[in-house]
Amino acid sequence: MTPIISLSDIQKHYGDYHALKGINAEILAGEFFSLLGPSGCGKTTLLRVIAGFEDVSSGVVMIDGHDMRAVPANKRPTNMVFQSYAIFPHLSVAENVGFGLRKSGLATQAKATLIEDALDMVGLGGYGQRRAHALSGGQRQRVALARALILKPKVLLLDEPLSALDKKMREQMQGELRRLQRHVGITFILVTHDQEEALIMSDRIAVMFEGEIAQMASPQDLYRRPVSRQVAEFIGVMNFLGATVLDEHPGKLSVEIEGIGRVQIATDQVTPGAGGKTGVVGIRPEALTLLYDQPAQGRSVIGVVEDLAYYGDMTYYQMKLDGSDKIVTVSMKNLTSRPVLDRGASAQVGWDEGALVLFGAV
Ligand code: ATP
Repeated sequence: MTPIISLSDIQKHYGDYHALKGINAEILAGEFFSLLGPSGCGKTTLLRVIAGFEDVSSGVVMIDGHDMRAVPANKRPTNMVFQSYAIFPHLSVAENVGFGLRKSGLATQAKATLIEDALDMVGLGGYGQRRAHALSGGQRQRVALARALILKPKVLLLDEPLSALDKKMREQMQGELRRLQRHVGITFILVTHDQEEALIMSDRIAVMFEGEIAQMASPQDLYRRPVSRQVAEFIGVMNFLGATVLDEHPGKLSVEIEGIGRVQIATDQVTPGAGGKTGVVGIRPEALTLLYDQPAQGRSVIGVVEDLAYYGDMTYYQMKLDGSDKIVTVSMKNLTSRPVLDRGASAQVGWDEGALVLFGAV
């Protein structure tokens, strides 16, 4: 696939502050791509650099094969949707959506058709004559989307577009935005600090910390094979256990893990930072299992329930592993055939060896 956006060594300084430290990335045509990271990591700055609202200190932004250095924001094939919607409350929905067509030279009827099509696309067909101030938050965000899409950009840039919505509306809009992106086939670049939102919506995610991309991968690869503890901790929950590398064999390592014992780890489960004799093994809560009444097996250890959180569909147990001070989080789906264990109960804890990840010691 051809990249629609290519970023080469993008550097951005605000005075002494180094906000972007050499960003290299290619974003493919038709991709739903997210920039994910904690507050202040530079994701909005990078989005604004792509849009042309922010100059780079050095580096090159290419869009659709063209160098953007001399191209101002309003001449780029991009459009931006902001968190604050930025719609005009005193105008009607149709006037808001058609705002960018004012200087298009199109006939009134042609504009009206485009507006109605754009409103249909975001599920607001028939709302054209409503005043924008009489809309809910979710509807306003749809107006902002329709207004951005009517100009047929090659790339739509979305800066935390759902963060002002309540949880239910946000979840609904996440699904709608994803469907809309598939329908129009335009590249969407979403800025978010919400890892769940990024996982649900994206084809690929760039995780950023302190002005750098730490990892760029599909949601599944990011979750299953984070390249560092920092990425692993940012995406979901992960248990970390001290580890000692005992032997190296072709394609795998023999590792002694705190609280668990000796396991085999394939080399593709070893992160680039893990080279020494000691390290840390990461394992997700769902890759640990309570074996209930099953007889003790070689690949399990006894644990005691220290605490639990019941979520209806799932229970998250804090299990203290036998012979160790370590408490790990184990998540179990609640089934009618499976009791929810009480505090103080003991159970065998098993693990999925293929889901272990070995990180470096720091
Ligand atoms: P958030 O999720 O909080 O919006 P972010 O990852 O989008 O965070 P940016 O807005 O890109 O972060 O900001 C990155 C860093 O650059 C921050 O430390 C911010 O204070 C700084 N910064 C951003 N804009 C400017 C500016 N115009 N002048 C000086 N510093 C700035």
